[in-house]
Amino acid sequence: MRIKTRFAPSPTGYLHVGGARTALFSWLYARNKQGKFILRVEDTDLERSTEISTTNILNGLKWLGLDWDEEPTLQSARIHRYQEILNDMVDKKLAYYCDCSKSRLSSLREQQLAEKIKPKYDNKCRERNLKSSDNTVIRFSNPLNGKVIFDDLVFGKISVDNSELDDLVLQRSDGMPTYNFAAAIDDYDMEITHVIRGDDHINNTPKQINILEALAFQVPKFAHLPMILNEDGKRMSKRHDAVNVMQYREEGILPEALLNYLVRLGWSHNDQEIFSINEMIKLFDLANVNKASATFSKDKLLWINKNYIQNFENINYINELEDIIKQIGADIKLGPPLHKILPFFAKRSETLIDFAKDCLFLYTDKIEYNSPSVSRFFTNGIQTSMNKVVDMLEGAQGWSLEEISQIIKSVIKMDSLKFPQLAQPIRIALTGDTNSPGIAEVIFLVGKERTVARINAAIRLNS
Ligand code: GLU
Repeated sequence: MRIKTRFAPSPTGYLHVGGARTALFSWLYARNKQGKFILRVEDTDLERSTEISTTNILNGLKWLGLDWDEEPTLQSARIHRYQEILNDMVDKKLAYYCDCSKSRLSSLREQQLAEKIKPKYDNKCRERNLKSSDNTVIRFSNPLNGKVIFDDLVFGKISVDNSELDDLVLQRSDGMPTYNFAAAIDDYDMEITHVIRGDDHINNTPKQINILEALAFQVPKFAHLPMILNEDGKRMSKRHDAVNVMQYREEGILPEALLNYLVRLGWSHNDQEIFSINEMIKLFDLANVNKASATFSKDKLLWINKNYIQNFENINYINELEDIIKQIGADIKLGPPLHKILPFFAKRSETLIDFAKDCLFLYTDKIEYNSPSVSRFFTNGIQTSMNKVVDMLEGAQGWSLEEISQIIKSVIKMDSLKFPQLAQPIRIALTGDTNSPGIAEVIFLVGKERTVARINAAIRLNS
């Protein structure tokens, strides 16, 4: 049997961290088993679903590199299929029309709560044989006795008494199917073998199994993924936490690093922390998914990101870096090609934003000096030594790190200076502040002409 998994987002917002983790685990499972991974857009909630959300979610998945097989399916395009099954279910008495009003249902609920019993529909319309009308919904005739038992691939055996379950609504009065019905039918029609989703759906699973069994449709296997908590120990929420995947892109996180971070939220392989995508695919298994909830840690994400930025020989992030440098308003043509500067900067940055800011002085000629640094390092007389550096750089035959470093060393020696006394004011002249790669490297990358112009300008301004 060919393994097939799906990611089934509701298009009511952006792709959030929890959704991305679900998509990743479903994708990894399919890729590990040479199966298929498909997308299903659950857009039957007409009031909350938007096309722009669908686009945002698909863009988030594309950015992460979670590719899918087949064209994504929209549930809204399958209404006729749901209707066909519903008609059949009503004919076979597996489902029925119900015209109970909202007010009846809410007083029923209040009464049950007052009697301290679990609120549920009292099956009033089950045997009434009502016909369809504008205000009827269709309800499922849930089995009255027995249990639903399934083996969750993460949580183990789960058993629920049918007496706990409702005659749930399958179709609303506006003709739209409910989530539990549409999802169950789709998983069957799309030949999904493994439903991998957040544990917030664990209570829906027995309902979906009952629907499938009533129709004699094959029931897939289920794996529910543990909840993701924020650092306060609460469930991550859109309102309180940074959960939009694309926000991490804006913060300079690499997609590979985010995937690596997400894979560890609930899954482990010994003590390993860093996994290439291919390694994740090779090693991933639902058997190693943890039941316990996972805690989201921004620090750890940054740690992983830093690791990936350093690993520039294997991860190509030049295009993303270039976009950020352009967004800051700098001109990439002013400085060396980005691949040439990677060895000098990659070890210094946690995010691509840090990286872009760090190397900005190469791609702009507007240097803003940090005044406390200027006051500290532009000491009396240092200008003379800086002039010497300028003269020697101008006279240099070649332009190598070695030659540049010799020039700096010789001026230091000539004028009996300590290294920072000369290196820091030059660094300020070239970058605006005192924090950068080695001084010879900075001079080398800025280039002869611009270095000379910048040192001269700084001497003029700060004498
Ligand atoms: N549309 C549901 C959600 O976004 C999907 C649940 C499922 O995977 O069955 O939570």
